[in-house]
Order: sequence, then structure tokens, then C-alpha cells
Amino acid sequence: MEMVEKSFKPLWFKLTRKTFNCPQCGQRLRVPIRPGKTLRVSCVRCPAEVLMDFRVPFIEVFKWQSGKSLKQNLVDMHHRFWNMPLQHKIHVLLWILILALFIDSLLGIMMGLLHQATSSESLPALSPVIQKI
Ligand SMILES: [Zn+2]
Repeated sequence: MEMVEKSFKPLWFKLTRKTFNCPQCGQRLRVPIRPGKTLRVSCVRCPAEVLMDFRVPFIEVFKWQSGKSLKQNLVDMHHRFWNMPLQHKIHVLLWILILALFIDSLLGIMMGLLHQATSSESLPALSPVIQKI
């Protein structure tokens, strides 16, 4: 168990932190990754401040604001999408595409299963013609 813990911890540490160099003095800095948040990071060696953006474009666009009406939310989503930089738009569109493909194949499998179930029940069982060879 101790072996596992020893090898797992550094990996976990690596995956949940981002290392970068200070743009002013080059000091290596390590910050915790906070998905969906923007962090203001102050360098430990110089007065430089860096904004770390961990926001996910896809989640940002479809963020639901409770307290607003359905229509207002849809209008806001629409605005957020069009105000995004191009690469974020592509990112969102790719996600929608992947999601659509996933749902499509899932529906296909479900319809196939449904079809199989109903067709075997509704059709009367017939004895096939059997020939001895
Ligand atoms: Zn610095």
C-alpha cells in the first residue's frame, strides 16, 4: 500500500497543478488548477501578477443563471457564444458535435434494442422449412 501511495501522490499533485514561468522574472510558479475559475497569481519573487484562466468555454456558454427566465437565459447563451473568440467557438461546436454523435449512437442502440424486442413479440412464431441434407 505504501508503494502505491508513494507513486500515486506525485502524479495526483502533477495533475491538479499547473506549472508556469513568471513572465517578468522567469521564476517557476506552481498553482492549483481550479476548473471554471480565473485565478490572480502573484509572483513570489517580483511584483508581477498573472491571471490564470481555467474556465471551460463549453461550460461558460451554457451556464444557467437561476432567477432569470428561460428566454433570458437562452438569449444570454446566444450572446456569450457570439462574443467568444473564434477558437472558443470552435471548441464549443466540437463539443456539441461530439455530444450529438454520442446521443445519436446511443439512440441508435436503444432503437435497435426496442425494435428487436417488439418485432420478436408481435410476429407470430412460424416453423421454418427444414430440409435434411
Ligand atoms: Zn516574477
